[in-house]
Amino acid sequence: MHRILSAPEIARFENDFGRESVKGAVERVLDRVRASGESPPFEDLVKSAAGELERAARQRLGPAINATGIVVHTNLGRAPLAAEAIEALARVARGYSNLEYDVERGKRGSRYAHLAGAIAEACGADDALVVNNGAAAVLLVLDTFAKGREVVVARSQLVEIGGGFRVPDVLERSGAKLVEVGTTNRVYVEDFERALTPRTALILRTHPSNYRIEGFTHEPHPKELAALGRRAGVLVAEDLGTGALDSLSRYGAEPERTVAEAIADGAGLVTFSGDKLLGGPQAGIIAGRSQLTARLRANPLLRALRVDKMTLAALGATFQLHRESPERLPIYRMLAATLDELRRRGENYVRAIATASIEETTGYIGGGTSPAQALPSVAIAVTAGAADRLAARLRAATPPIVARIEGGRVLLDLRTIAPEEDAMVIAALRNVTRSSY
Ligand SMILES: *Cc1c(COP(=O)(O)O)cnc(C)c1O
Repeated sequence: MHRILSAPEIARFENDFGRESVKGAVERVLDRVRASGESPPFEDLVKSAAGELERAARQRLGPAINATGIVVHTNLGRAPLAAEAIEALARVARGYSNLEYDVERGKRGSRYAHLAGAIAEACGADDALVVNNGAAAVLLVLDTFAKGREVVVARSQLVEIGGGFRVPDVLERSGAKLVEVGTTNRVYVEDFERALTPRTALILRTHPSNYRIEGFTHEPHPKELAALGRRAGVLVAEDLGTGALDSLSRYGAEPERTVAEAIADGAGLVTFSGDKLLGGPQAGIIAGRSQLTARLRANPLLRALRVDKMTLAALGATFQLHRESPERLPIYRMLAATLDELRRRGENYVRAIATASIEETTGYIGGGTSPAQALPSVAIAVTAGAADRLAARLRAATPPIVARIEGGRVLLDLRTIAPEEDAMVIAALRNVTRSSY
């Protein structure tokens, strides 16, 4: 045991895991060997223990390098936080905070009070509320307003976002009855009007986040739906999902519907995620009219969906950056990078790696947000042995590098690799391309 622990291949894990955990892994290997009745040479024992520790290191939650070109990648943790957001969350995490304490009056305060004003202002709404994620925001709206009543949704918008979030299922679980209107491709305001009954709680619009219906299509303008809602006394809510404060047109992307537009079009409540195009932490935001948000605040379910102080701190800093200097938000920096900048970075790769070349490629805004939204980009194409083996080796690097395989080659999209990560990626590429021959 002692000899194995002091072997350099094993000792190097102590920094990361601590001595006790490393010892535990070695013990497991020794137990297995004893049970098998074999007596392998010392080097084999070290190798098995190192393999065990490497696997454990890969399974642990930790940083990864996103070379997929998909800017908001749900499996890779969505939006990276801005430095200011990380500082803000570290400040409140380190000690106590005024999370639920009104310092001025010396009394209990509300965790929802700190940010409501700033978010509402950014959205052009009266008020706003923060919950755990976008799905929780939708659930709270449905539970508050639609339990045991009817919700009218266009057939074309009965979406599945991914990760098990399906509008019809969420509706059912919240105790609401779904009323579908229109056909897959065409729905008119008259369809909604005919579906209204005294049991109607709300008209729900959802953002077609991850698909597109093209061709012979029709949808009522959101303003028409809002007018219908006002006439009939029915709440119109919009699940935007994406939560863009900016239309993205300045990045050469198709204009994205913004939260402020949805509010201005007359939606009573708008729900969206904190970690998609907002570029903040995981959160669900509900913005809208204050008589409606007051009812959300009074719902006991809110207690189960409440957000943590670190989330609120990071979200606050993110909203402030949107106002002051959005280019400091990592996802906007990525979106703003020009092809020339990416090509210039690519040249460092090509100089260092014999089998690498620079290629034009297409990245995506991605996530549950606008996956179909293409972004012209620049990739490093690597051909060294079988592409799937090379990609697996890149994933085994520390930190793991997640790349794309296209046409039998491994592509690393430079848009989603931070410039600070270039040196690390180049080193890993040199390493894996050298050893793959
Ligand atoms: C992403 C998304 C959700 C879910 O939000 P989470 O923050 O992932 O919980 C809900 N609705 C739409 C339209 C979305 O795009």
